[in-house]
Amino acid sequence: SIAKEKILQRRSLQLRNQQQDWQESPEGKKMLDFRRSLPAFKEKDAFLKVISENQVVVVSGETGCGKTTQLPQYILESETEAARGAVCNIICTQPRRISAMSVSERVAAERGEKLGESVGYKVRLEGMKGRDTRLLFCTTGVLLRRLLVDRSLNGVTHVIVDEIHERGMNEDFLLIVLKDLLPRRPDLRLILMSATLNAELFSSYFDGAPTMHIPGFTYPVRSHFLEDILQMTGYQLTPYNQIDDYGQQKTWKMQKQADAFKKRKSQIASTVEDALEVADFKGYSPRTRESLSCWSPDSIGFNLIEHVLCHIVKNERPGAVLVFMTGWDDINSLKNQLQAHPLLGDQSQVLLLACHGSMSSSEQRLIFENPEGGVRKIVLATNMAETSITINDVVFVVDCGKAKETSYDALNNTPCLLPSWISKAAARQRRGRAGRVQSGECYHLYPRCVYDAFADYQLPELLRTPLQSLCLQIKSLQLGSISEFLSRALQSPEPLSVKNAVDYLKTIGALDEDENLTVLGRKLSMLPVEPKLGKMLILGAIFKCLDPIMTVVAGLSLKDPFMMPADKKDLAESSKAHFAGRAYSDHLTLVRAYEGWKEAEAQQAGYEYCWRNFLSSQTLRAIDSLRKQFFYLLKDTGLVDHNSVAYNTWSHEEHLLRAVICAGLFPGVSSVENKPKSITLKTMEDGQILLSGNSVNGNVPRIPYPWLVFNEKVKVNSVFLRDSTGISDSVLLLFGGNISRGGLDGHLKMLEGYLEFFMKPELAKTYLRLKSEMEELIQK
Ligand code: ADP
Ligand code: MG
Repeated sequence: SIAKEKILQRRSLQLRNQQQDWQESPEGKKMLDFRRSLPAFKEKDAFLKVISENQVVVVSGETGCGKTTQLPQYILESETEAARGAVCNIICTQPRRISAMSVSERVAAERGEKLGESVGYKVRLEGMKGRDTRLLFCTTGVLLRRLLVDRSLNGVTHVIVDEIHERGMNEDFLLIVLKDLLPRRPDLRLILMSATLNAELFSSYFDGAPTMHIPGFTYPVRSHFLEDILQMTGYQLTPYNQIDDYGQQKTWKMQKQADAFKKRKSQIASTVEDALEVADFKGYSPRTRESLSCWSPDSIGFNLIEHVLCHIVKNERPGAVLVFMTGWDDINSLKNQLQAHPLLGDQSQVLLLACHGSMSSSEQRLIFENPEGGVRKIVLATNMAETSITINDVVFVVDCGKAKETSYDALNNTPCLLPSWISKAAARQRRGRAGRVQSGECYHLYPRCVYDAFADYQLPELLRTPLQSLCLQIKSLQLGSISEFLSRALQSPEPLSVKNAVDYLKTIGALDEDENLTVLGRKLSMLPVEPKLGKMLILGAIFKCLDPIMTVVAGLSLKDPFMMPADKKDLAESSKAHFAGRAYSDHLTLVRAYEGWKEAEAQQAGYEYCWRNFLSSQTLRAIDSLRKQFFYLLKDTGLVDHNSVAYNTWSHEEHLLRAVICAGLFPGVSSVENKPKSITLKTMEDGQILLSGNSVNGNVPRIPYPWLVFNEKVKVNSVFLRDSTGISDSVLLLFGGNISRGGLDGHLKMLEGYLEFFMKPELAKTYLRLKSEMEELIQK
């Protein structure tokens, strides 16, 4: 070990020399000058001192002051200078993949290195890190999974948890685990970084850990609310029911978006509508007042955004524009619309960029660079651009006021991922992005009174999402009782949410009655997908029908590739019905469409196939690549070996596919009752429910199956099933619920409850017979 120490020491010295050489090169000098101009630099010594004297430190500072790129680097540099460069091991977590990737690339560039040398990254299913990597940027999820196999983080010297102000579920979870770990690893340093000044909360959680603030500077930013924008630009809103804003996009998107907006509307807290009711827009011209009276939360359409962008490009001083949208779908459709615009689509005047998680690094570079020749840069982004990435030359911000956030209704046990109003803190953060290099302007596409009705801060994710995956992780990390563990969180979730999650995990057989992890549960905790999807994948491998099951799971984790253009709805529907055949299954319909596409692709006719069948080739391609990743994952966890052919012996047996789908989606099951003129569907929690018109089962006169299993139900006015697959009694009996080792009793008990509820006495008899047969079998 003395020899090993010598090697490390020699390596450390080498690293030090390398950095010195770089910093003396012309490019290195320039980079160093830039780095020294950041507000964080002034605090460098103080920061290094405070972390050397304390185990936990909380650092706050304005976005862009250099927390993420500089502070981890300061640690690496000071270790390198002390000739410990080859010994230190710094992990910095990011809430999102894209920030882990782009930040690591930036830091490597600042150090004059390629990614994967001393600086690397690791995100789910992807990474770039080498033998010499000492500073690793990873997602919080990656660190949590590492804790699974390496509970005391051996060899890690520093853990930096970034963006803690976002209060993501993984971050809150990680903090509980780290808090437990610290006494066992007195040499480990923990640094928490936050963009806002709520450091006290975290400091008191870690027994009064010292806090440090990096003072930043931003230029003033002027806010324009909708009423000002209307007055300034002369734009006229029309009532939503006369469809203007979305009316010009005569595509399937229009209908989808209109649906989405309706849904949003039902979800919006009444406070916004209350605010609108009492709002008086005195002081504005009659025209503005009339226009505002048409405003509803649905009015934030693409045409309004387009109009504001035009206004900026035509009338405002130079400077990049950052547009905050709710999600990738919206960004894409808006980009398409803007590209068709005579001014905004003119590439000699406007550089239009979309910022998303799977950007190539050349695309990323464009986002940070200043375009040449007076071209105006417009970047479309999600709330990721609020704090995780900083685009320096932004002078104008357009804020649609919404973000996609998961929410969870514990009473109905229904999760939803819908765009909802952001908080005042988030709106402030968005606005601040316009004042990085000079004073800026922010266009809020909603009236001021709506802003006033926003919540101050967003609710922590732990308090608003289903906890199934989290509970599974708690168990696999052997952290003891789930509810006891969660009671130690910064803010604990409702007991009912915890109970629902634990019940669910018992139902699917991931936990036994005493809350111990089953074999299935252990495997599921290793797969970074929702437990039900993981279960489907595992069973797909076990029952040797893996390919189609991977397609189903990929489809469920992405989105529907079937398109429904409003003007060709009939054609599109009949094309989909053709794939559906007599399957009575959205999941099998997808499998058929995907397989047809694969065949067409092999003959270079994939694009034409999509066009003819109203399919999105983009989504099919995404499904294709996700399937590949699933296979690697299953291989990683030892569930399959390299030979994929062996896992597809029964892939053409649709009955078997139904069974595996049922095993994954249970307890998402509804009964089917065919009546002369209608079909009645019921679930245990909701009573009567409806099928969405997009489901292949939504427009059929009868469904020849007694049950439907589904992945998703959404609550609009009634509860709708998005997707469904018909299954038989025997499939429900044998595959519904817990079929893992030792769980038979629980499985049967639960099914008893089901059959009783749905009043199927005949089935109950069959079931009792099956039960005794099975028990006999097990005795043998
Ligand atoms: P913080 O984490 O405090 O929000 P960062 O460390 O991410 O700040 O960024 C500090 C500064 O580094 C930013 O203001 C920006 O000027 C610069 N920067 C960050 N990433 C890049 C990049 N990829 N390209 C160019 N400059 C960057
Ligand atoms: Mg940062």
